[in-house]
Amino acid sequence: MGRITLDKVTKSFGDLQVIPPLDLTIEDGEFVVFVGPSGCGKSTLLRLIAGLEDVTTGQIRIDKVDATRVPPAKRRLAMVFQSYALYPHMSVRKNIAFPLRMAGMDKAEQDRRIEDAARVLNLTDYLDRRPGQLSGGQRQRVAIGRAIVREPAAFLFDEPLSNLDAALRVGMRLEISELHERLKTTMIYVTHDQVEAMTMADKIVVLRAGNIEQVGSPLELYRAPRNLFVAGFIGSPK
Ligand code: ADP
Ligand code: MG
Repeated sequence: MGRITLDKVTKSFGDLQVIPPLDLTIEDGEFVVFVGPSGCGKSTLLRLIAGLEDVTTGQIRIDKVDATRVPPAKRRLAMVFQSYALYPHMSVRKNIAFPLRMAGMDKAEQDRRIEDAARVLNLTDYLDRRPGQLSGGQRQRVAIGRAIVREPAAFLFDEPLSNLDAALRVGMRLEISELHERLKTTMIYVTHDQVEAMTMADKIVVLRAGNIEQVGSPLELYRAPRNLFVAGFIGSPK
């Protein structure tokens, strides 16, 4: 399960309040996209959910459990970083296994999970290579594999494709959508790219200066943007 609830969450860095009181529910299995201009608080919000930042006030629940003070490793959420976060000196297998080795999982269970993930991601033939011997898209898949093996309640992506060239981005967008279809696990995806938001999301959360301007399906936002900011951002005719 992967239902995530934010209840009156705020975040300040010193005197700067980046997230004003914010309520949001993400249903189990949903593909939710946080979209908004640079600096609006997308990464901060994702990091709060992941536990990489502490909320200033408010509560975060994961499947009814209060996770507000739970450390990141115990939240059952997997953050997918950009492909450059791979270890260049380790094989693909070791890169994918990394979080499992850290958790002290037994070797047979590690191998089972690695092979399952490799199959889902078409990386079976590449497990003994180093990241430097892979294409950009394959490297991105290894980064995703490292998240899959943890069998998380939700995947969190922070602009995972921003390093890739335009053509590759389209392919990876499709691959991530397909992965969601297959795994049916909750995914939260941060981007400043309207096209990614409109094509990938079940639900879009439009942020401006830490405020939620509107939440809705791509079609709802397109048909009935609440204001000019949303209309402008989504590219819809208001
Ligand atoms: P986005 O991901 O939407 O581009 P961020 O969440 O990274 O935006 O940043 C939102 C705001 O919070 C920005 O004004 C940024 O400068 C500020 N901010 C983010 N992290 C920190 C931090 N660790 N310390 C101080 N200010 C921060
Ligand atoms: Mg960001």
